[in-house]
Amino acid sequence: MDYQKILENIYTEILPYAKEGKQADYIPELAKVNPDQFGMCINTVSGETYSFKQADTRFSIQSISKVFALAMCLSIKGDNLWKKIGKEPSGTAFNSLIQLEIEKGIPRNPFINAGAIVMADILVSHFEDPKTEFLNFVRALADNDTITYNEKTAISERETGYLNAAIANLLKYHGTIENDIETVLHFYFLMCSVEMSCNELSKAFLAFANHSRPFDYASVALTTSQVKRMNAIMQTCGFYDEAGEFAYLVGLPGKSGVGGGIVAIYPMLYSVAVWSPRLNSKGNSVMGIKALELFTTETKESIF
Ligand code: GLU
Repeated sequence: MDYQKILENIYTEILPYAKEGKQADYIPELAKVNPDQFGMCINTVSGETYSFKQADTRFSIQSISKVFALAMCLSIKGDNLWKKIGKEPSGTAFNSLIQLEIEKGIPRNPFINAGAIVMADILVSHFEDPKTEFLNFVRALADNDTITYNEKTAISERETGYLNAAIANLLKYHGTIENDIETVLHFYFLMCSVEMSCNELSKAFLAFANHSRPFDYASVALTTSQVKRMNAIMQTCGFYDEAGEFAYLVGLPGKSGVGGGIVAIYPMLYSVAVWSPRLNSKGNSVMGIKALELFTTETKESIF
């Protein structure tokens, strides 16, 4: 398969959408990003890399970090994790309070903000130094020790993060989180602030695509079955309340973030990451979804 040629063709086809949508501006640091950027990278299980445009430019991974947090929490808690967090698609916005209130402080799934705030609490309880443990895990997955947090982004998000603070308070009220709210929120925002490029993200996600290799990175080990189940959750919950649309258009498990990044995997074949900051009304990258839709259509490689 000539992935490089396909990437070039896709780019020409998605250019008409280049000015559609706008970047997330509710996080002050993200509002400063130039929205007119695009990068894409494919890493195959057999070891090839295909990069296109700004595949090496780092951006804020935001909610993509929730996949890393889930891997860590599953390795710590196993199936007991599901006592605190559900695993059904939410059908409401990623920062919705209503559903959390109705469901008495048990987040619908690990990839909405409430779920990730509970995971941040679990990691804060489990590790003496969660900040270092999280980074070590991400660095081990991507095999790159230069990946790091952008503390400025994390702090700027806390300054305006009233909704996430409300979610954390509701969780605390219901007893779903144990630690002090400020500590948990700070760690949650830090995880979101990690910066990675498409190349680094697709490399990191190969670990979720390659079921034949033992999943054992830094302090995190998962069974093959746990990795497969993580893919199932990415498929059903990975794209806010647009997971159905993403399954329909693209047909791969993955995760998006409001920084404009999307990573998706084809089990046993490849991991693909795309980035473009302009988002649609659901919070997913406009160019990113278009590019992936064309990619799986032209390669005829979707899991369905
Ligand atoms: N830090 C962002 C928030 O909590 C993450 C949102 C996202 O990427 O979905 O609002």
